[in-house]
Formats: sequence, C-alpha cells, structure tokens
Amino acid sequence: MWHLGTNTQVDGGPSMSEAVLGIDIGGTNMAGGLISSEGEILHKVEIPTEASRGSEAVFSNIKSVAEELLRWADLKGVPVSRIGISTAGQVDPSAGTILYATDTFPGWTGFPLKQRLQPEFGLEVFVENDALAAGWGEKCFGLAQDAHDFIMLTLGTGVGGAVFARGKLLSGSANLAGLIGHMTVDPYGRPCNCGGRGCVEQYASATAIAKTALQSVGLPSDSVLRGKISRAGSALSAKDVFDAARLGDGRAQEVVAEAALYLGAAIGSLINLLNPELVVLSGGVSRAGDYFLRQVHAAAQQYSTAVAFENVDIRISQFMEDCGVMGAGAVAYTSGIHRLDPH
Ligand SMILES: [Zn+2]
Repeated sequence: MWHLGTNTQVDGGPSMSEAVLGIDIGGTNMAGGLISSEGEILHKVEIPTEASRGSEAVFSNIKSVAEELLRWADLKGVPVSRIGISTAGQVDPSAGTILYATDTFPGWTGFPLKQRLQPEFGLEVFVENDALAAGWGEKCFGLAQDAHDFIMLTLGTGVGGAVFARGKLLSGSANLAGLIGHMTVDPYGRPCNCGGRGCVEQYASATAIAKTALQSVGLPSDSVLRGKISRAGSALSAKDVFDAARLGDGRAQEVVAEAALYLGAAIGSLINLLNPELVVLSGGVSRAGDYFLRQVHAAAQQYSTAVAFENVDIRISQFMEDCGVMGAGAVAYTSGIHRLDPH
C-alpha cells in the first residue's frame, strides 16, 4: 500500500514535515505545486511552457516556477527536499533525460533535465513521463491507493497510459510499456503520427473528438454543434462537443458515442489482458463526467470477458486539472523506485 501515513518515510523519501515540488510540463502550460506528504497542494503556480521557443526557454520557465514555489516554502518555513517533474515525451527516469519528444517541443529530445536542474537548487530531481507520473499520482494520493493492479489513462492531446501490476509500474524491456494510446482499435483506420493506423488516440483523445466533430457535414441550421463550430472554428474543443451532446445535439452525441466505443474497446482488451481491479481516466475528456463514463463502461463490458469485467471498476480521477502536478509530486515522493525493473 502506498498510504504515506503520518510519521513514516517512504523508502528513504522525504519525512512527513517536508514537502516536495511537483512540476508538470504540458504542451501549452506548465504548472507547479508545493505538495505535502498527504497530497495537499500548499501553493500552486502556472505559466506558459513556451515550448516553441526551444528547450532553453522551457528550462528557464521551469526554474522560474521552482524559484517561486521555493520562495513561498521558505516564507512559510516548509522544508523541501526533492523536485519531481512530469513531462510530455519519453523519459529515461534513471538519467532524468528526455529520450524523445515530438516536434511541438523543439530541442527537448535529449535534454539532460535532471543533470541541469539539480545543481540549480541543490535538490534531488526526478523526471518521469506525464502519463506514468499521473499513474503515480493516483497510486500515492488518489483513487488507486489501495489498488495493486490498475491502469491509468490520460485523455488529452493524445492518449497516455500507465500500467501498474502488483503495485509496481510496468516498465517493459526499455521503459516503454504502457503506450496505450497507440493500441490499434481499427487496422484499417485513421493514420497515426506513430506510423501506425487506427490507434485509439486517433478516436478518443480530446483532440480527436474535436477533430471528428469539425469534420461533420450537413448539420441542420438549428444544430447546437453547428453554432459552436461557427463560433470557435478550428479552436473547437472536446468540451464544446460534450456540451452540445448534453444539450441533445444528435451529431455531437454520435461523436461522443464513437469516441466512447473505441476507448471502451481498448479498455476491454486491456481488461482481458491484464485483469486490473481499477481503470482510472483523467485529462480533458474525463471532464465530460458521467455522461461519457457510462458509455465507456458499456463498451468496455461489451469488449471484455464477463468474469474479468466483474472485477474491475472504471472511474474518473478526482484531481481534474491538478492531475499533472499531483503526478509530478508523487514522482518526487516515490522517486520511481517501485517499477518492475527491466531485466
Ligand atoms: Zn499511434
């Protein structure tokens, strides 16, 4: 169990009177939090990531966030011992470097984040991929505290995943396990930027839901979705689509149902494969709440065996917009030590 109970230490981690910094680096914004061992955010800062300005600009912004949080901690007399970072891209957690990031983060691939950040503040730094960090957040502070076998899905620009087996993060042979977003749910389906086709993130990410809705044709003049599209244009969000669906827009309901079906099919396969006790959804799409969850649940049931489905709960993270910061804080607390290590 991962309860960070009072007056205990987590395998040499920070003591209870201390807090950690958790910084989540997203494509648009980065958020940092000073997080107590009970998972309480004592102070929070959010600034633009400015990823397009290159890795040095991003690094300088990370330092600004850390400085502000440490200033606050100092003022309140809260000791800080570690920094946890959650970032987009593939990460080497032992070296604390970014192994691969997409073109939206120019210069981030290969960036030695731990090595650069550690001497700046004299604090230990731990770096983890954002989806894996979100899994740690649920394990330490959230819905998965008592779960040994669970799956985390983050539904945002893409679909990120983390698999925990017997209480440990499944790493795979090269720390790449859990790329659930690239599970094929239609071999003849939409091409994906991973080079594959029909990946679940092409249907069930927040980006994909908005894109599917934007491609709608022949919408009636009184359509709520049509109104939202004419106001937002290409900036239409998944939230707009969910709002339209809830207001009874037929096409928006179809788009949501399709996303839920593909996501549920992927979850159904994961349930059969891994027999988890819990699946947690977080990110933009998860904010659609029960309306979306009910449909995902029904599809997961349809695409999994009855006996495995009986043993699983599918729930939405309670952290909402703080999911990334909580994940980053959890990475600092656990220092990623409880992986099923690559052999
Ligand atoms: Zn893919």
